[in-house]
Amino acid sequence: MRDELFIDGDWRASAGGGTLDCIDPATEEVFARVPAATAADVDAAVTAAARAFRTWGVTTGAERAKHLRAIAAELRKRRDELGALETRDNGKPLVEALYDVDTAANIFDMYAGLAEQLDGADEELSTSAAYLKVVVRKSPLGVVGLITPWNFPIEQFTWKVSAALAAGCACVVKPSEVTPMTSLMFGEIANAAGLPAGVLNIVTGTGAETGQALVEHPAVAKISFTGSTATGRKIMASAAADLKKVSLELGGKSPILVFDDVDIARAVEWVMFGAFVNQGQVCTSTSRLLLSAAIKKPFLDELKARTEELVVGPGAAPASQMGPLVSKAQYDKVMGYIEAGRRAGATLLTGGDRPEGLNAGYFVAPTVFTDVTPDMSIWREEIFGPVLSVMAFETEDEAVALANDSEYGLGAAVLTGDAARSDRVAAQLQAGIIWQDCNQIVVMEAPWGGLKKSGMGRELGRWGMEAFQETRQFTRWLPDSGLGWYAK
Ligand code: NAD
Repeated sequence: MRDELFIDGDWRASAGGGTLDCIDPATEEVFARVPAATAADVDAAVTAAARAFRTWGVTTGAERAKHLRAIAAELRKRRDELGALETRDNGKPLVEALYDVDTAANIFDMYAGLAEQLDGADEELSTSAAYLKVVVRKSPLGVVGLITPWNFPIEQFTWKVSAALAAGCACVVKPSEVTPMTSLMFGEIANAAGLPAGVLNIVTGTGAETGQALVEHPAVAKISFTGSTATGRKIMASAAADLKKVSLELGGKSPILVFDDVDIARAVEWVMFGAFVNQGQVCTSTSRLLLSAAIKKPFLDELKARTEELVVGPGAAPASQMGPLVSKAQYDKVMGYIEAGRRAGATLLTGGDRPEGLNAGYFVAPTVFTDVTPDMSIWREEIFGPVLSVMAFETEDEAVALANDSEYGLGAAVLTGDAARSDRVAAQLQAGIIWQDCNQIVVMEAPWGGLKKSGMGRELGRWGMEAFQETRQFTRWLPDSGLGWYAK
């Protein structure tokens, strides 16, 4: 377990000497401490990155690909250690943590391939100016600040770092103070993979101190941020001061629409997966179910029965299908929404409390509310916990209108046995990621990001790498003569 800052290829304590506790959410016990990086530490990290960028930024894609593949290999080698640490820090079931490690390794490999494709990818334009040779090149932005949330620590670190390194940027990463442990392990992985010192730096600390210092640092070309909409708004405002670029992957309140012609057993599983995987702490979590009134009764009976079968327990216990929420703050927030739902008059179909027998840890039973109305906070606001709100609809148009009546626009899912209806409805849904006949599947080659207040910019696939590139033109004069503009 690493518990120091990773700056310029080396480990050090915070300049201010401060530390932050890491709490195991299944036991509420402190199991580690990490440094609280100060503005001076952030400056050291950015300075190291700026120096490293001078050489890293002009390496070939093939050279960078070698390092990215070496990181993927290291991830696979340390799979069990990383998975166990992620479960301890975040609470998620071990099987899900291991899935995250496997996916992370695959993403580093994918970006290795995309980095290689950059070599020789300069595009010579055919222009109206035959006396010029015009070449367009995608160049790395420089030093980038990467700020991640706590719900998928390894994956979020990977999405940003792999794409930025592939593009040729040097990185300073500020992981969530709630789950910093696995991000620090990437320092060891980077050294084992032979990544040049300073290309990747990892500074742990709070958002207000460490994160803010990174956002305000003048030598940082771009901030790529994933987290809440409230923080995204603050980051964009701070970045505006020196016109820093930003990518923002923010919150959501995604709908899933279930029509009357579905296979109920299958549809119930997609709905449960969208509401309860990762304890519902997923940005695209489909926490609003729009259910055809025609199948309301059989669907809800099955949903209730199967939700009550879910095994909630410590993430490290092999039988657990849901772990604890990540922190006391998140537990209190989710319980507050459940209370608000009750008070607003929604009907609790199941859950709503701690599961029986789990007296320590931030456990919340998977919860379903019915008879929800569009004005209720459980319908409108991102809860980020295992709480599903259900509304019945009569017509397709009504379902689409209710789905789109949200300030967010991240994900949306449509389940129907009618392919034409699926396409028609999907085309109208206001979201960046739309699932048809499925839910929550992440395809690493496809663009990921939201509309409306769910953010701006895209991650994953080639779009993820382009987010760390600048498009430049190189225009060469061909004639063996001068311009002649001021000819006498
Ligand atoms: P958060 O906004 O509280 O924190 C995210 C990160 O920002 C943390 O590292 C935090 O320390 C940092 N931060 C906080 N204030 C800052 C500031 N003023 N300046 C710079 N950095 C600051 O979010 P969270 O609670 O960690 O994560 C949950 C949120 O993330 C949810 O809203 C969820 O929807 C969103 N999320 C979105 C996606 C996506 O792809 N769109 C993915 C995962 C999570």
